[in-house]
Amino acid sequence: MSETVVTRFAPSPTGYLHIGGARTALFNWLYARGRGGRFLLRIEDTDHERSTPAATQAILDGMTWLGLDHDGEVVSQAARADRHAEVANQLLAEGKAYKCFSTQEEIQAFRDQAREEKRSTLFQSPWRDADPATHPNAPFAVRIKAPRDGATVIADQVQGDVTIRNDQLDDMILLRSDGTPVYMLAVVVDDHDMGVTHVIRGDDHLNNAARQQMIYDAMGWDIPVWAHIPLIHGPDGKKLSKRHGALGVEEYQKLGYPAAGMRNYLARLGWSHGDDEFFTDTQAQAWFDLGGIGKSPARFDFKKLENLCGQHMAVMEDAAVLQEWADYLAATGQDIPSSAQMTRMEQAIGFLKSSAKTYPQLIDKAAFLLNDRPIEPDEKSARSLDTVSIGILSELTPQLQNVSWTRTDLETILNGVAEAHGIGFGKLAAPMRAALAGRAATPSVFDMMLVLGRDETLARLDDAISRAGQTG
Ligand code: GLU
Repeated sequence: MSETVVTRFAPSPTGYLHIGGARTALFNWLYARGRGGRFLLRIEDTDHERSTPAATQAILDGMTWLGLDHDGEVVSQAARADRHAEVANQLLAEGKAYKCFSTQEEIQAFRDQAREEKRSTLFQSPWRDADPATHPNAPFAVRIKAPRDGATVIADQVQGDVTIRNDQLDDMILLRSDGTPVYMLAVVVDDHDMGVTHVIRGDDHLNNAARQQMIYDAMGWDIPVWAHIPLIHGPDGKKLSKRHGALGVEEYQKLGYPAAGMRNYLARLGWSHGDDEFFTDTQAQAWFDLGGIGKSPARFDFKKLENLCGQHMAVMEDAAVLQEWADYLAATGQDIPSSAQMTRMEQAIGFLKSSAKTYPQLIDKAAFLLNDRPIEPDEKSARSLDTVSIGILSELTPQLQNVSWTRTDLETILNGVAEAHGIGFGKLAAPMRAALAGRAATPSVFDMMLVLGRDETLARLDDAISRAGQTG
């Protein structure tokens, strides 16, 4: 019987959702979604000093922006402390764990002596096999009775079999002397209770897996499939730093990357499917598997991210681009567009989206429709508004009064004027761009005219002509 796949993302809410965490979440999401499984979210908030509600909110917001929806309620690890203690007590009752009365000083003395005698400093509690009759009436920690011989093998789907000699592992504490469970126990109990079948996480947790597997074994629970993924490095192969893109995911939203492009890029960061670079969510879900995860750290590359974002923006539904654009404006505290701007944007989005890779670029391309009159030409475009060009524009405007406002008719008129003056269309387009958009690089002149409409187009051309009259 094949069991339903259950994955989880288990961030500690001690800071923003960084890019490595977002990729871990994405891999778990892809794996579950591609197999009709469940993707769960657990907030590992047991470190009360470092966990903050703001960080939890940042994680949830980041996941929402990335479109990584999870199944069921968000699980709080801290809220399950009683259950974690219950498991430790069960192991105690079954003789798989024991009460350790050693004090900090005694443990330190053990280590000091071991160091002197050049033995392993791993603590070996004298209470492991002590007769309960000898137990003092004093505080104790609960320690697991870890196997002392043999080895623990982590059958990792990415790293292969990783063998850890059991004499390298100590009798880890499960419950501290104040009765609080340790993190390592909490993770195992939660993963088991949540029915997690696949643990996909950063390889900084590989060492934990050996200790965690011991708890699974002691409880007689099924061990999940392990997949420890290599970290993300900067373009130079060094540890990812802020300069390299180690930002919170919300920063990527603020930089204006479309989430679909971000998902595609993050999926490719450390995982591959043949030579495929660009793919949709549906394809990524169908293709994603643990065998495609690379063994060496992936390198973050802003250029690739941007290129993929451009490809995604181009194929997104117009409405989706507009919605994400509005979200981007809100996230960056920019003014929301007026209804007039929105109407023009709706008309223009079909061609704008194919030439922008990010929302700031989209806004730049849309400057002609977002800016109101009078349009102030920038230095470069102003140069094309010379006397000759102004003369041609003055000749053009009366012809635009009555023409039907369609691409074909506008093309006929503009091409006719260019021809009449023996100039190439480019020579006419430059002053048009300057007058309509105030810049040299713009969408096509016809696209702009059609979006702006006759009145606005004529008003902008007249503005340019009269400004030239004043200065010239
Ligand atoms: N809370 C851990 C972290 O944020 C993840 C633990 C796990 O995935 O098992 O690194």
